[in-house]
Amino acid sequence: MSLSNSLISLQQTDQQLIEKKQTFVTLQNEIQNQGGLIKLRDKCEKQKQQELEAKVEVARLQSEFNTLKSKVSEIEQRLYGGSITNVKELNAIEIEYSSMRRNLAQVEESIPSNEKIAAEANEKFTEYTKQLKENEQDWKLRLVKIHGEAKVIKDEYNNMLIERKKVQSGISKEYLDHYNRISKSNPGSAIVKVDRGVCQGCLVKLPMSELNKIRLSETPITGSCCSRLLIFSN
Ligand SMILES: [Zn+2]
Repeated sequence: MSLSNSLISLQQTDQQLIEKKQTFVTLQNEIQNQGGLIKLRDKCEKQKQQELEAKVEVARLQSEFNTLKSKVSEIEQRLYGGSITNVKELNAIEIEYSSMRRNLAQVEESIPSNEKIAAEANEKFTEYTKQLKENEQDWKLRLVKIHGEAKVIKDEYNNMLIERKKVQSGISKEYLDHYNRISKSNPGSAIVKVDRGVCQGCLVKLPMSELNKIRLSETPITGSCCSRLLIFSN
């Protein structure tokens, strides 16, 4: 294999290694978040919590309503019982009475909205719980599949590494070092073709003298444009 072809083969292998690694990481992430189960459990828990909070609020409002109601009827008795004849005192009680009735109405009004929140949260909780049960079943199967896929990818990856070593052994240290250095910042395009006078790595048009040099060379040439290894496109 020519040096150029060895470098291109090395680059292709490296690209595939990167892809395998990414797929492997994606599978690992799926295992980590249990295919979305952790998120779904969290959603269930939140709805349950919301329902509980709304129910506590309803109970608090109902107790406040009862307290206010008995106070209102107490005042009504004093107001209409005929025992108070002092006008000033009567006015004061009337003011207290109307303020308390306003409070009572307010408390009464806010009970249904909190009951609605509790009911809606309960509905969502039921829905998410059902979904959770289904997904938990699916996940068991998926997990077995993931472990299988991960193993295949790992084996393929290791085989590719062996293949890479073989290809690498046919490349001189000078070119290998150059390739590795450029690959770090430009994975997949450390060695590129020059097409119609343009470097396909950085898309800069090269001077004629350099193009001729690349055309005549048996080995890749370091481009003056971007330091990539350049070969001539036939
Ligand atoms: Zn270039």
